[in-house]
Amino acid sequence: MLTTRFAPSPTGLLHLGTAFAALTALQRAREAGGRFLLRIEDIDQSRCRPEYTDAIIEDLTWLGLDWAGEIRRQSEHLAEYQSSLQRLRPLLYPCFCTRSDIAAAGSAPHGPDGPIYPGTCRTLSAAARAERLNAGTPYALRLDMAQANVPGLTFEEEGEGTITCTPEMFGDVVLARKDTPASYHLCVTHDDAAQGVTVVTRGEDLKPATHLHRLLQHLLGWPAPRYAHHRLLTANGQRLAKRDRSTTLRALREAGHTPDDVIRMTGSPP
Ligand code: GLU
Repeated sequence: MLTTRFAPSPTGLLHLGTAFAALTALQRAREAGGRFLLRIEDIDQSRCRPEYTDAIIEDLTWLGLDWAGEIRRQSEHLAEYQSSLQRLRPLLYPCFCTRSDIAAAGSAPHGPDGPIYPGTCRTLSAAARAERLNAGTPYALRLDMAQANVPGLTFEEEGEGTITCTPEMFGDVVLARKDTPASYHLCVTHDDAAQGVTVVTRGEDLKPATHLHRLLQHLLGWPAPRYAHHRLLTANGQRLAKRDRSTTLRALREAGHTPDDVIRMTGSPP
């Protein structure tokens, strides 16, 4: 069955832009007689707050959205992400570099997640690696992109067709950190597979990430969903942001707007 999802991170209140993402996923499922799921991407404990999860659920309910089945909360699935990481283990290496070590290594070209890692820890000797691990030095796990990449992988973008993946633009991407045991990239691909998502609708800012997600799906033997990246809503030429309170559903609701008004403001069909 065609299955879509809305996967907000509870780092702030829903605003018109995130409501548009939710409505897009819901409508895509409705048109096809499919399922619409809700997933809370609360893996990054330093940025996510439970009160925002509650607020997101309340605001979506107020807006009249209903999702199939249980809400999936990433923070409740850490053991699953660990097992996916374990399966990738031969392609991962521990990286002990701090942000300032990476900055000090000189100017590196930028990828979608920031500067491309210069590879310092990829070539550490086994002895140096063991010494740091034994000393309890914190580390991240990076994907050895040169080993992992599978040239010629593609994904299907609705309205555009087949796109050839270039995950190498991320360099040796971080898949786990000391404080975030599995990265967004790992969790999102894991969850889309675990939840049986067949069409991923999300903002076009995440389109570059799809190149990497497709590679992870391939390496982990998961099916490839179709993708439909949508435009981002803007106000005065600026992308809507969580920090701008005036477009939050809370503020609009307090100002007397109805759910239908909000749906109209996003430009979504009623
Ligand atoms: N959690 C992500 C966000 O709030 C969206 C992830 C996705 O749709 O793949 O930006």
